[in-house]
Amino acid sequence: MEEKIKCRKCGREIEREAFLLNLRVCPYCNDHTILGSMDRILITADEGSFREFSRDMKSVDFLKFFDLKSYKERLMEAKLKTGLNEAIVTGEAKIGGHPVALGVMDFGFMGGSMGSVVGEKIRRLCDFSIKKVVPLIIFASSGGARMQEGIMSLMQMAKTVSAVNRVREKKIPYFCIITYPTSGGVSASFATIADIIISEPGALFCFAGPRVVSQTIKKEIPPDFGLAERNLKNGQVDMIAGRKEIRDTLARLIRLFSS
Ligand SMILES: [Zn+2]
Repeated sequence: MEEKIKCRKCGREIEREAFLLNLRVCPYCNDHTILGSMDRILITADEGSFREFSRDMKSVDFLKFFDLKSYKERLMEAKLKTGLNEAIVTGEAKIGGHPVALGVMDFGFMGGSMGSVVGEKIRRLCDFSIKKVVPLIIFASSGGARMQEGIMSLMQMAKTVSAVNRVREKKIPYFCIITYPTSGGVSASFATIADIIISEPGALFCFAGPRVVSQTIKKEIPPDFGLAERNLKNGQVDMIAGRKEIRDTLARLIRLFSS
């Protein structure tokens, strides 16, 4: 029997193969679910154009951090689950024939959390963007800073912002694509300072999640709190683009910015 997946938003059942062929988007309600870095690169970059940077850079458990499990164990699990060494994949690619510096976060790797390696990979990506004078494009997907690295993870907010600002000072365009979910330290740093912020439909983009905000202020919050469509209305994002149109959207923006 064909395996089925239940949509978390509309609750309808989707055949697994149809769901995958539809790029993990629900065909009934257009819910854009979490997509891994490599799949996203495959559907965004021109075929065969992606060349990865710093693939072997790995996080170090310098605090010997232990919550329910050790940080070392969590890193190992994340690696086995995703096949990646860290929560962001960076490299050079072409989109619609235009060379770009591309970074894609992966929520499957410890909730896309930003630690020292994510920060350093973004910095190096920015350096590449400046050196080659090519647009900087980052897909965000993150629960925030990586608590297992303590204050070092918080320092990545300042580090990534200053790296991105150097790109912007050179008048090189920077586009950030918000995907479900983007919150915490990533929302509060490099994701929010792009020239154009594009959101996937329905993507949650906030600092603290709706439940935390509701508990803190002890009030009901609107059901569309932090969602793409509300963020667009309030000016928090500039445009909404679905997964199938993202390559063309980015190519169009690059053309517009370079003319
Ligand atoms: Zn659905």
